[in-house]
Parts: sequence; structure tokens; C-alpha cells
Amino acid sequence: MRIYRKNEVIAIRPRGYDWVVSRVRPPSAAPDIQTVEDVLALVRASGGRSTHARRLLVSALFARNDHMTAEELAAAVHAEAPDVHLSTIYRNLEDLEELGVIAHAHRGHGPATYNLAGRGHGHLVCQSCSDTIDVPDSLFRALMRLAEETYGFAVDPHHTAISGRCEACSAR
Ligand SMILES: [Zn+2]
Ligand SMILES: [Zn+2]
Ligand SMILES: [Zn+2]
Repeated sequence: MRIYRKNEVIAIRPRGYDWVVSRVRPPSAAPDIQTVEDVLALVRASGGRSTHARRLLVSALFARNDHMTAEELAAAVHAEAPDVHLSTIYRNLEDLEELGVIAHAHRGHGPATYNLAGRGHGHLVCQSCSDTIDVPDSLFRALMRLAEETYGFAVDPHHTAISGRCEACSAR
């Protein structure tokens, strides 16, 4: 396993080119994230507190099982707890990201979206119709290997999308 450190980003490559990229190193015993309780246990194991707001944020991500913008997450929290301040929600998103529990991604021109860290994946976004395709890390394997060998650069395939033209738009 090799660990690269650049700015605050730490990328860990276990054997077999299965990349895990996170702002903090995920605990090695964190593979089985199935429930909200699993995530909150991870928060506590990483030195964080499992507050009500954090529980609501994580619950919303599980309920949707998809990317959510900060705005959508705030709406989900406010549906359950209208008194939670917006600033608290945003700070909690940052904290949960620091703890390696959630991650954000940029998919095209819209606002950043959040997902549970264990469910990160790459995106192909069409410049013409904005259609987005979720893709597995295996698609980036050759790129990641070459970038590392040639430039010592650890590619994070989850953070930003690859842009281009989808099949339908290319055919037009
Ligand atoms: Zn970003
Ligand atoms: Zn398209
Ligand atoms: Zn996605």
C-alpha cells in the first residue's frame, strides 16, 4: 500500500488498484457501511460526535441513495428539524467530509453534490445534454497507473467528472 500526501488529500492504494481517496485516511476496518448506525459508529471511531444534525444528514443520504446538493440535504434536515441553522448544516457537511464519511463531487456546471464516502464513483457528463453516467473506478485504471508512473500523480476519479458527448448527442 502506498500513501500519497498532497495538500490535505491523502490517497490510499491498496493492492490490486482499488483506490480509496479521502481527505482523511479511512479507518482500515470500515468496509461494512450498511446503515446510518454504521456511519455514525465510524464518525465516533474517527473522534467525531454523532449529533442529531449529523444523523439527519446521513439518514437523508441513505434515504435518497444518490448524490444530493447541500441545498437538498438542508431541505431534508429541515423537514425533520426546522430549527437547525443552515450554518450548522453546512459546517456538519464539512466535518463529515473531514471525517471521511461523506465526499463531494462536481458533475458538470451545477452545484457540488454529496454522497456517502463508500459509494463514490466516477462520472461522464455530456456537454450537450448534461446527461450523466455513473462509472466504476476500473474505467480509470490505466489513466491512474500512467499518471502515477509518469508524473507521480495520484488521480482522484471521483471528485470531478469527465466531460464529453454522450452517444445520443454524438450521433446527431
Ligand atoms: Zn470539490
Ligand atoms: Zn448528450
Ligand atoms: Zn454518481
